[in-house]
Amino acid sequence: MPDADGLYLWAPEGTGLWGYANCLWIISGSDAAVIDTPYDGPLTEAMIAAARPWLGDRTVRTVVNTHANGDHSFGNHLFPEAEIIATNGGHDHQHHEPTPQEMHALVHNTPPDLPLGRYLRDHFSVFDFTSARLTLPTKTFSGQHTFSVGDKEVELYEVGPAHHVGDLVARVGDVVCTGDVFFHGDHPPHWAGPLQNIINACELVLSFDPRVIIPGHGRPTDQAALEEHLVYLRTVQREVHRCYEAGLSAEKTMDELFQRQDFYPHLGLPERLMIVIELEHSHLSGSSSPSVLELSSKAAAWSYR
Ligand SMILES: [Zn+2]
Repeated sequence: MPDADGLYLWAPEGTGLWGYANCLWIISGSDAAVIDTPYDGPLTEAMIAAARPWLGDRTVRTVVNTHANGDHSFGNHLFPEAEIIATNGGHDHQHHEPTPQEMHALVHNTPPDLPLGRYLRDHFSVFDFTSARLTLPTKTFSGQHTFSVGDKEVELYEVGPAHHVGDLVARVGDVVCTGDVFFHGDHPPHWAGPLQNIINACELVLSFDPRVIIPGHGRPTDQAALEEHLVYLRTVQREVHRCYEAGLSAEKTMDELFQRQDFYPHLGLPERLMIVIELEHSHLSGSSSPSVLELSSKAAAWSYR
């Protein structure tokens, strides 16, 4: 992204892949902040090295985590002088997320003849979780929080539970970081929901009339692309509810979408919709949400059918 606004984007090519999140740097006056940190140590070090020409000798005083997933927070420990901001919900949920060490064990110790074991190796063994250290938020809020970076104001708005329990979106002038309520170019996995909350979060982003929208994953974009994604989310919501009323399982709903309709063929990682559907079913039935491992196992099984 051009540096005219003091904003610099770390935007790894992550379409069709898990774990490569966008991180926005804000550098103004003698101050610097970063919204989200990468999934492991080497990626975070590479990002800091890439930012160095603009960062100079400034210290990053603030890190924001848009939610508790490791692909947005496992690099926190490489900003030792920063205050780390998250929502109360995000902070509380961090204790239920796999730590970097647990992710390493999951990826390498889950039996490879199980779909989940194969899937984790296929998609996550590229990351070095042994290099990451869980570093929790040091400042939390509910609702809204504003802080300054030089002459820039950063406004944080809590929108979770949506993609995750404590999601926030960040607004810096006419640029908005959506966190993972918006994936650009792939089918999303959502872990908290219901879908209506994700739709509401995307509508809030559009209400800011942003010039640039930075999704949690995928290329930076504009309002038209987010409006298109809202059509997708509403279609998923309608179809999932219709199939649920007809008594169809999540697997049968996936068949309805992908065998009959060739649903959004240009989007990657279709198995992630299995997670969204299972979760929406739990909201519709009023049952407790399945665990991350249960949801991931179902997605992996669908992916290798
Ligand atoms: Zn993410």
